[in-house]
Amino acid sequence: MSKRIPATLIAGDGIGPEIVDATLAALDALGAPFDWDRQAAGLAGIQAAGDPLPQAALDSIRKTRLALKGPLETPSGGGYRSSNVRLREEFKLYANLRPARTIVPGGRFDKIDLVVVRENLEGLYIGHEHYVQIDDDPHAVAMATGINTRAGCRHILEYAFEHAIATGRKKVTIVHKANIMKALTGIFKETAEQMYEEKYKGRIAMESVIVDACAMKLVLNPWQFDMLVTTNLFGDILSDLVAGLVGGLGMAPGANIGADAAIFEAVHGSAPDIAGKGIANPIALMLAAAMMLDHCRLTEMATRLRTAIDQTLNIDQVRTGDLGGRAGTAQFTQALVSRIRGVAEAATLLSDPTDDQPGWADAVVSALVKRRAYHGPTDAAGLRDSAWSLVRDLSAEDAEKFFAGYQRAARDVLQANRIGQSDRLRPGFLRPS
Ligand code: NAD
Repeated sequence: MSKRIPATLIAGDGIGPEIVDATLAALDALGAPFDWDRQAAGLAGIQAAGDPLPQAALDSIRKTRLALKGPLETPSGGGYRSSNVRLREEFKLYANLRPARTIVPGGRFDKIDLVVVRENLEGLYIGHEHYVQIDDDPHAVAMATGINTRAGCRHILEYAFEHAIATGRKKVTIVHKANIMKALTGIFKETAEQMYEEKYKGRIAMESVIVDACAMKLVLNPWQFDMLVTTNLFGDILSDLVAGLVGGLGMAPGANIGADAAIFEAVHGSAPDIAGKGIANPIALMLAAAMMLDHCRLTEMATRLRTAIDQTLNIDQVRTGDLGGRAGTAQFTQALVSRIRGVAEAATLLSDPTDDQPGWADAVVSALVKRRAYHGPTDAAGLRDSAWSLVRDLSAEDAEKFFAGYQRAARDVLQANRIGQSDRLRPGFLRPS
């Protein structure tokens, strides 16, 4: 049994609790070894503890150094400061990694595979803002200060270059506005160029582009980009744009990475317009959970989750409304969980059909061949591979039928040959509970 991993869970506001429940159902079906410490923040934090970022939530993350978080509501124009920004500052979560990959083909943009790396602590998000009163207008002038430091730029750029190289990316695009904000974003461009010369030239390609042109190019020809790395505000805007290339905010996960902790969340907000209706797409948070599994080096589980999402959308054709489907959050989640459970059961059955029953695999193969239900290889390893690939391509319902047939055939042959029953062949083992 794998080691348990303590982690903080913040359900968040609006659609947060709905998509968090859906994501937990998927993680449970996978057998993910997280021990959750549930905490409140955002509006829920105010209701529970009178604070949008209660001390208990901070203490929990300080202890676990790992969190899965639903979206937190922040009032616009006034009111309390964003708990998301405060969390990033508190745990020095300097890198915001926001991948966007096409999962449902045939949309306006196909085969998108982009990553936006956003600086998460500096720039115009530091919250140094004030109004200046003139005569009797207290809001006559609004001012904001942006701060980017050499150290902060180096930190995020190094993260981006290293991540790009480690994950086989070919090109890093530095996005800036150094023609107008010559100091504030000039320092980012200049630092990138220096670092590239010092450490990365010859290992990966680099280019720079002005943010407004970048937005236009992303819409005209997004395939020219691979990884975009940019300052805080531009990263926030461009990552929503990039989410739009792969089906919308319901498909865009994010990771906030720092030296002290990592917090995984969807790119989207609390979606108050659809909260409580049971129609939110939980995939963005599920993909964030897959990033969390990767972060904990549970890569096989992360791959199973991504594969199950892909199959539920594209083979079972179960999709929420934002993707043009008719399923609600619960229906999508149920289909996904069946996928995960079905494959997990098949994996148990196929793990090694011959170890305690010599001749078992051959017997099953000949039975299936006789029934014209199997045309693949006839050794145990081949059977396992072929059954796996079949399960991958079948809908949950068909997979169940396939295995029911497989089970019946196996039992007949086992009885005929007096090989005996394997306890792996329990009836209904693929049925989701
Ligand atoms: P939003 O991302 O919540 O919603 C934008 C649009 O996308 C809405 O029409 C919404 O219905 C849709 N949408 C978002 N997620 C969806 C999903 N999973 N499935 C289907 N449709 C989805 O942006 P907003 O309305 O501008 O912000 C609402 C609140 O969320 C604000 O208080 C904002 O500050 C906060 N917010 C929080 C985070 C975070 O916690 N990381 C991020 C962004 C915004």
